[in-house]
Amino acid sequence: MNVVKKKIDLRAWGGATKKEWADWRWQYQNRIRTLPKLAGLAGLPPDAVKRLNPVVGTYHFAVTPHYFSLINLADKNDPISRQCFPDFREVDDVIDGVPDPLQESEHMPVPGLVQRYADRCLALATNQCATYCRHCNRKRLWGKSAPARTKDDLRGMVDFVASSPGIREVIVSGGDPLTLDEDLLDWFLGAFRAIRHVEVLRIGSRIPVVMPMRITKTLCRMLRKHRPLWFNTQFNHVNEITPESARACEMILEAGIPVSNQSVLLKGVNDSYEAMRELVCGLQCISVRPYYLFQCDPVAGTDHFRCDLLKGMEIIEKLWRNASGLCLPRYVIDAPGRGGKIPLQPFSLSANRE
Ligand code: SF4
Repeated sequence: MNVVKKKIDLRAWGGATKKEWADWRWQYQNRIRTLPKLAGLAGLPPDAVKRLNPVVGTYHFAVTPHYFSLINLADKNDPISRQCFPDFREVDDVIDGVPDPLQESEHMPVPGLVQRYADRCLALATNQCATYCRHCNRKRLWGKSAPARTKDDLRGMVDFVASSPGIREVIVSGGDPLTLDEDLLDWFLGAFRAIRHVEVLRIGSRIPVVMPMRITKTLCRMLRKHRPLWFNTQFNHVNEITPESARACEMILEAGIPVSNQSVLLKGVNDSYEAMRELVCGLQCISVRPYYLFQCDPVAGTDHFRCDLLKGMEIIEKLWRNASGLCLPRYVIDAPGRGGKIPLQPFSLSANRE
């Protein structure tokens, strides 16, 4: 796979320098966060903007300049804009969705810590993300009324894990934990690492995709200290694999941290065999292991992304027949509460394996 570098017109970004563009702080500060700014850059007509007002009034909106630069604005069906531009269906189209279909909030022994399995737990370290993915299954957390995490919340999570000897793995996620202050994240990971029964840490972050410049040498040095640490990211389309994202993953790998990918099956983004094959083969080329392909959860405001299960089965069946084993993610649906991940495997493949 040839990872092609896209030419950026820096004039559209207030004449930023190349050095600024490559600095994650500049990227974070210059995120597109308002509809007028988005309309100006993407050429949206005024009536479209008016229609989107209730969407951004309900759910946060932010896109990094890097992620925006991957969009082909001439393509109305661009797979990147679909994932990050607000869509009026997020507030109109709530036929099936509920805010918390996995019932995470019912399995939260202390604020921010979800325990759905006996031996592992999920620490929701922050509600902030660099780019807000419209298909996110934790949209409820970036609602305007959701409280921000405090250091006391983080301490509470650490104390709970310290007093739960059955927990051997802690997954630090969010929001995106790599938007946290680096010293605070170092402290948080270190506090879990200091607990004798915690054997493994995991980070879930979309930063390598949406703001890859955040993966710096200093950050990697810090993360390296907390091994065994596993890094899960989320590429959903081959267009997200860029020289910058490939380099970010390489730096994490060079720090001795395995990188895996958890995609979501998204209508209009990657719901075809061809799109999925390009994605998983592209990931293999940058040494990122396709781990899970998630059926999109029935979260309020994401109906328009949800594919039929049979469609997913059809894609996975073709992949199994035509792609190398290292490219094959497990297609799963997450069940509510303690139900866990249920593998979805076409019957024809089960029969073949017997
Ligand atoms: S980065 Fe992760 S938590 Fe944040 S909006 Fe995207 S999917 Fe959701």
